[in-house]
Amino acid sequence: MTSQVERQANLLSDCVKSLRFWKELIDTHLEGEEKTAEMNQLEEIVKDYCVIDFNATRTSEACEEVEDVFNNDSIDDAVDVDELYKEKLAQKESSFDGNYQQHKIWKEVFLGITDHDVEEIEETATQNEEDMEYEEMQDSIFYSNVFTPPVDPISKKIIKEPYKSRTCGHVYEYKFILQYIKSMKNKAKCPYMGCNNRSICVGELMPDSETKNKIAEYLVKNSQSSSGDESDDN
Ligand SMILES: [Zn+2]
Repeated sequence: MTSQVERQANLLSDCVKSLRFWKELIDTHLEGEEKTAEMNQLEEIVKDYCVIDFNATRTSEACEEVEDVFNNDSIDDAVDVDELYKEKLAQKESSFDGNYQQHKIWKEVFLGITDHDVEEIEETATQNEEDMEYEEMQDSIFYSNVFTPPVDPISKKIIKEPYKSRTCGHVYEYKFILQYIKSMKNKAKCPYMGCNNRSICVGELMPDSETKNKIAEYLVKNSQSSSGDESDDN
């Protein structure tokens, strides 16, 4: 059985996904004043959602705390539930601080960052710490297993000549990002979905030699492991 809280969370998550989709439609199809107007409207709605979520969170937390008190056996029978709830609620921040940009809903709609991504990043970070210990023993063998070569967002192929944006840090295949920037006539935005870099230019690109070396190393190792199959053709 799903609880009220879970149902609320699922509903909210569906709403946020729709808002995120709306934002993508605006980015893809609108320009100029029309885009600004639609984006302003979206921001107002997202702000409302942030406040709703803030209030829903503080009331459900207060409820949980009241529940915890009652689950504790040593509870005095004379406790007034309403009073206790009010007390718990009063201990929480009473109103939203207005810092919408820091709210998870805002981040998800406008930056495409979800709680799930954050968990994944944290997981990867812990994983990397563990890997470091192995690395001391196994050195580069383990390292090559961890590296995944970046895929160019335009060609969808493994990048061979990586260039990096100084603004957002994203990596692209040099010839495709150049073509793309030229074809967009100074209106190019970073082709990574959800990236906030809205005006990417040739001047901000720089060669990413570190990634290039890793890719080269990866490709060499990969071709070695598959070379056995190719020799059968002779
Ligand atoms: Zn970017």
